[in-house]
Amino acid sequence: MLDSAQKLIRDAGGKLGLGDEQIEALISTNAEHKFEIALTNGEKYQAFRVQHNNKRGPYKGGIRFHPQVDYDEVRALATLMSFKTAVSGIPMGGGKGGVAVDPKKLSEEALEELSRKYVKGLYKNIGPDKDVPAPDVNTNAKIIDWMVDEYEKQTGDKTKASFTGKSIENGGSLGRDAATGRGGVIVLREILNKLSINGPITIAMQGWGNVGSYFALISEADHADWKLVAATDSSGGRYDTAGLSAKELDKYKKSRGRLVEFKKGKEITNEDLIGLDVDVLVLAALEDAVNNDNQPKIKAKLILELANGPVTYDAYRSLSGRDIIDVPDILANAGGVVVSYLEWVQNKKSEQWPEDRVNRELENYLAKAADKVYMRMKKENIPLKEAAFAEAIVKLTS
Ligand code: NAD
Repeated sequence: MLDSAQKLIRDAGGKLGLGDEQIEALISTNAEHKFEIALTNGEKYQAFRVQHNNKRGPYKGGIRFHPQVDYDEVRALATLMSFKTAVSGIPMGGGKGGVAVDPKKLSEEALEELSRKYVKGLYKNIGPDKDVPAPDVNTNAKIIDWMVDEYEKQTGDKTKASFTGKSIENGGSLGRDAATGRGGVIVLREILNKLSINGPITIAMQGWGNVGSYFALISEADHADWKLVAATDSSGGRYDTAGLSAKELDKYKKSRGRLVEFKKGKEITNEDLIGLDVDVLVLAALEDAVNNDNQPKIKAKLILELANGPVTYDAYRSLSGRDIIDVPDILANAGGVVVSYLEWVQNKKSEQWPEDRVNRELENYLAKAADKVYMRMKKENIPLKEAAFAEAIVKLTS
């Protein structure tokens, strides 16, 4: 993922006429923190926070608890965050953090201790005007609430603006849960409109988690002519050319857990879903889901990257050569960070906005961002993905 992100930055920077030094400055990180967390039960874990770029505002990005967390992954995700905040037009920078741990193996007490010790190790380097972390894979509002409490204990800061993704009772924003999926719907609608694809479309989607489920539910509610024909989770999933109900799938997933056992449509594997003859392929699960091995199978006209880094660089180049449009993560999944920024603004002003205000602001940021990226694609005659990186680079270097 780091390699793919850096190649995209080099491509876009080169076309904009940036010299090698300027490009390397965009790629390099401002600060990297690594420390060990020792729990009272004797277990030890490596913890990271990478602060990539703060030219446009405080570093912003999630904290991931996962056994495979390492410097390269955190660097890649921090880099993508700087480009995501820039392309979406919010005044924040990019950072990312993580702990190499499987939180499912920890007791509730150990998880709280780990979360608090992460903040104890880092509090001098983060804060409302310095670096504002958020949840990511395997972290949630409960963990963030512990972290905010610990930050307050260490520093006395009571604004709650030190972290986003808090519970609503603790200063979180309404609309945050659905924001990334909702943002994906806004971006897809804008790009389809600009491409004059106004008629009915078919969609296949990989990944039915937070992002994918909200994307499917909001699509179904707002766009009667978008037909979801296939959906999978890690177990595989279902395919029905007549269309699947997102509401029914979501209810099933929440109560039973495995989409492959859903009763309607026929069974489909994740690999077969990638090759379906649909208008839009939505990737809402994993990085590198589309790669050199499976990209020749793709028949979709457009890919919407709701996951981070779901298409490798080489696969993207091949897809561009076949005129398949790849709507990049830094635009397609920016809804989450936009609403995180809106949460931070609400905390700073001691306000709590109604959900429709949050959604309106999200709509404004992303519709504008999609427009700018599309206009750049047309003007420069470059792929949409490269246009998004170029748009971000212009903002990061001006
Ligand atoms: P999640 O854990 O809620 O859901 C992930 C989904 O992917 C689950 O349904 C899981 O079953 C499925 N999955 C796992 N392996 C799979 C496989 N091999 N094939 C098909 N499906 C598989 O996670 P999420 O919060 O929805 O995040 C999904 C992606 O979106 C991640 O890349 C994440 O970094 C990215 N993202 C999330 C947000 C956010 O606000 N949650 C914001 C930006 C980007």
